[in-house]
Formats: sequence, structure tokens, C-alpha cells
Amino acid sequence: MKVLFVSAEATPFAKTGGLGDVVGSLPVALRRLGVDVCLALPFYRIIREKNFGRRLLLDKLEVPFGNGKLAARIWETRIHKSIPVYLIERDEMYDRSGIYGGPSGDYDDNFERFAFFSRAVLSMADTIGISPDLIHCHDWHTGLLPAMLSERFRDSKTQSRLPSVFTIHNVGYQGLFPADKLSLANLPREVFYRPDGLEYYGKICLLKAGIVYSDAVTTVSPTYANEIQTPEYGMGMEGILRYRRASLFGILNGVDYELWNPARDPEIPVQYSPGSMAGKKACKRSLLKEMNLDPFLVKRPLLAMISRLDAQKGLDLLLQVLDDLLALDVGLVVLGSGDEGIEKNLKEAVRSHAGRVGLVIGFDEPLARRIIAGADIFLLPSRYEPCGLTQMYALKYGTVPVVRATGGLEDTVTAFDAENQDGNGFKFGPYEPDAFLSAVSRAVETFDRPLVWARVIANGMKEDFSWDRSAAQYRELYQKIIGRSASSNV
Ligand code: ADP
Repeated sequence: MKVLFVSAEATPFAKTGGLGDVVGSLPVALRRLGVDVCLALPFYRIIREKNFGRRLLLDKLEVPFGNGKLAARIWETRIHKSIPVYLIERDEMYDRSGIYGGPSGDYDDNFERFAFFSRAVLSMADTIGISPDLIHCHDWHTGLLPAMLSERFRDSKTQSRLPSVFTIHNVGYQGLFPADKLSLANLPREVFYRPDGLEYYGKICLLKAGIVYSDAVTTVSPTYANEIQTPEYGMGMEGILRYRRASLFGILNGVDYELWNPARDPEIPVQYSPGSMAGKKACKRSLLKEMNLDPFLVKRPLLAMISRLDAQKGLDLLLQVLDDLLALDVGLVVLGSGDEGIEKNLKEAVRSHAGRVGLVIGFDEPLARRIIAGADIFLLPSRYEPCGLTQMYALKYGTVPVVRATGGLEDTVTAFDAENQDGNGFKFGPYEPDAFLSAVSRAVETFDRPLVWARVIANGMKEDFSWDRSAAQYRELYQKIIGRSASSNV
């Protein structure tokens, strides 16, 4: 079975969030299960700068775009030496400082950049003869691809239809663009106007295109798959998702424990494992020093949050409870980048708490690892959370998560029950400051009972969210779809 992944991000090449982690690691797990996976990415400047070994596959690929053709170059590099990664080079579109935008916001031509990418992937697959059995598309950037596949089949009665899976990593990012841009994607106008078409309040919605035209839609946790069918979480897509519910599946993201393991992480000051936890204390001491925090915090809980600065992530709740949190005699470290308004509020809020709160604005993975290892408690008060990866990393690093019970947080964190001594973290339901504060207070009280706390940590470090189980679910889904589409093409 041959599957072509198409995505705007994949580690170690380009990452702004969980999408990059997932698309960088799921193919490796699928390969272990015998699926022949390859991956296509835009050739961003950041990939060029990282200097991965690569070879030129095609010097000039002609890609139909609007009324004419645009040229692209195709490079090939690899993940783990075994997974081919095709990089679509078109400097005018991708040789920029950012992936989606710069300091003043998203790039104005993101429709062109990702519509071209989708079209170029199809031209490339035909030209170099990749011949996948299925295309797995990720998030709105690739939402046009299922529509292109479907329309191409309609045009060519001789070609069998190539099936697609579309994964929603976050329904809040929908790729909305002015309707007049559609002609660039070489799709007939009726794909826009049909009731089940790409139109969303007069605009083109690329996320909707992926939902409507793919053979199956997946999202990254079972709870989120249910939530996005409701008005509270669907962000306007709930209707079309309910319409497709027979083909909508929630498959929990996994963790690549080769990369996220405190016993092997080269970025943390001292490695540690469940049987030998001294290193975690050393990581905490080192983090307190790095963040200029008061040394008395060695004995008190150190809270941490690592996040895109986005309304989704619950930073407003954090700010509302900050004084009450600090009254619990704890320290706090925050690492984040994103929304400038949230950044400003954070900076203002922490100004009066020198020595107790460390704030770093930026995207810094080695620092993220030092924080996950050095902190005691990891905060995720998200408004919604499709899956969330950091709570799974935190569990493996013996850092106890306090989370809002939503999406993948609900599916991966189990509330600690002092009586049975089971559970790996602390949860709260309503998106309200008091509920959040009360969950953190419960965690802090438990921290003050070292034997019980050691049990919560041990329960978390034992959890296994490795990719194997989820990758097997994807493989099963691919098999079902490929089988079905082969019989319907006959
Ligand atoms: P999302 O995709 O919504 O941002 P996830 O929890 O799925 O959330 O994935 C976030 C990923 O990005 C994790 O690997 C996390 O460690 C990383 N991350 C988020 N913000 C930062 C940051 N400021 N610096 C370094 N890594 C970050």
C-alpha cells in the first residue's frame, strides 16, 4: 500500500505546532507497519537554511495554474533515510522568512501558495510516477486536493479515482479566501456553488473542501471528533461534519518516544527515568537558574505552560488567576509565541512578579524540552484542544498535567484519585477561572504529600501514547477506503 502525505508542515523540516510533529512522526510509524509512505512539502526558506541533504528530481515541472502554467522544481530528501520527502520549490511563494506569514500577519497570497502547492503535488506525482494508492491530506492548506482529485476523475473517464483522507488538526483554522480566487485552482465554478461545495458565507473555505471531497475525514482525538459536530466546538463546520459523520473518525495522535524521552533527550541538563529520578531535580534547579527564579522554589511546585499565544489556549484564564496561583507559593514559567496582544498582556502581568514568574517570548524547542523536564506541573487550560501533544510529553517527563477536560486532553489525562492511587493528572470542566484555580490547588496540595505525588508522577511516566496503535488505525482506514474505491472504479 502506497500513501502520499501532503502537508504544510513536518518535523524536522518545518513546524509551527502539533501538525509538524504529527506529519513528521506518523509516516515513520506507518512505515514500521509496512505502509510505503512518502511526503510532499513546500520548499520553505527555513528548509533550505537547515541544509538537509537533497537531490534535484525535476528541474522544471509545469503546473497548470489559472489561465497558464507556473514552473516548480522538485527536490527529494528523506526522513530516517527511508521515507522520501518531495520538496516543491517555487521561491516567489515559499522563499520567505515565515511559513504562513510575518510580523504583520498572514501572507496575502496564502490561497495562491497552497492552491499551487496542491496542484503541483498532483503534477509531480504524475510526472515522476509516484502512483500512490491514496493521498492523505492535512489541514486547510491541502483541502483543495480532494476536490482536485474528484474533479479530475470526473473529467477523465479512463482514469480511476485516487482516494483521499483528510485530517483536521484544528477546526479553527479554515483557510477562508475571496471567491474570485477559485479560478486559479482550475476547478469548475459549480464546486463553489453546490450546497455541499466550497462556499462558506460567500468565501472559499479550504477546510470545507477537504471535508466535503475526501473519502474519509479524520481528526486527532475521539473526543474532538464528537465535539466538532456541535455548535460550541464546530466553529461553523458542525453542519457539514454531521453530514459526513459516517466517514468521520477520531484517531488519537501519538508520540515519537525516540524523540521525547527524558532518558535520552540530549537537550536536557541531566537525563532521568522512572527508576532514577535524581536527574529531574537537577533539571529543575537548572531551569530555575536559567529563568532567574528564586531558589526557594526548589522545594515548591514549579508550574509551566508552553503554547502558541492564541485565544484557544486559555492564557486569559491564566492571567485571571495569576495572583491567586502565586499565592499558593509556586513558581511559573511560560514559553510562547503568537498573538501580540496576548504577548503584551503576559509581559504586563509578570512585570510585578520578578523571581516568581519567568516569561520567554519565542519559539524555542530546546528550551521547551528543558521546561518540560524541569517543571513539576504542566498547565493546559485550553478552551478547546484537538489533541494536544505537550500534555503527553509532560507525562513522559514526569511533569503532572493540569488540563481542561476537552478534546484530546480529555482522552489522555485521567484525574488522579487519591483513594485508588490511579490517574495521571488533574482536570477541570467549565472554562472558568475558579474551576482552573481549584484544579491547580488540588495539584499543589498533592505535591505537598511527596509519596502520593511520586505515585501521580509514576502513573504518568508509565503511560504509553506511542504511535503504534494509532498508526494501525490509520492503516486499517486506508485499507478500507482503497478497497472500496477499487470496487467502485470497476
Ligand atoms: P498546537 O498544534 O495547537 O500548537 P500541540 O500541543 O498539538 O498544539 O503542539 C504544539 C507543539 O508545538 C508541541 O511540540 C510544543 O512543544 C510546541 N510548541 C508550542 N509553542 C512552542 C514554543 N513557543 N516554543 C517551542 N515549542 C513550542
